[in-house]
Amino acid sequence: MLNAKEAFCLKEQDIVRKNKMPLITFKFNIPTIPKNSPPISQAFIKALKDFLQFLGKINDNFTIIEQSENVLGPYALILIKFNSKLLKKKAIKFENEHKIGRLFDIDIMDELGRVLNRTKKRKCFLCDNPAIICMRLNKHSQNEVRSFFDEKIKSYLE
Ligand SMILES: [Zn+2]
Repeated sequence: MLNAKEAFCLKEQDIVRKNKMPLITFKFNIPTIPKNSPPISQAFIKALKDFLQFLGKINDNFTIIEQSENVLGPYALILIKFNSKLLKKKAIKFENEHKIGRLFDIDIMDELGRVLNRTKKRKCFLCDNPAIICMRLNKHSQNEVRSFFDEKIKSYLE
């Protein structure tokens, strides 16, 4: 049995194989459950709009081939003809500069179906440590992380 993440990755690879161009997966990094709620959906639509506007400045020749939600939350799959490494850099810049960028999870898959990794470790939601450290050390309670996430979403919608 595949878990939801693995199944999603296979789906992404299938799209890349059929279209032979890089694929962007735009979604939120949602701590704990539920992975969706009316505010999350609303914020997702708003954030996606911001992202597409940003993308349009890089190359407006892109296609949203799917916008939906699954057990991991809402997502959009976008095909774009662009250098994948450069695209990854731009996506990280967008995350760093956006009001709720730390909540985003923008994955880039190159035209061969390989996921590009970030060179710098992702920062934790709550503190400036790398997220992986806080996760390993259980530094923040699940409730604490989730409240922070929900607060950010709320203030973004105000
Ligand atoms: Zn932390």
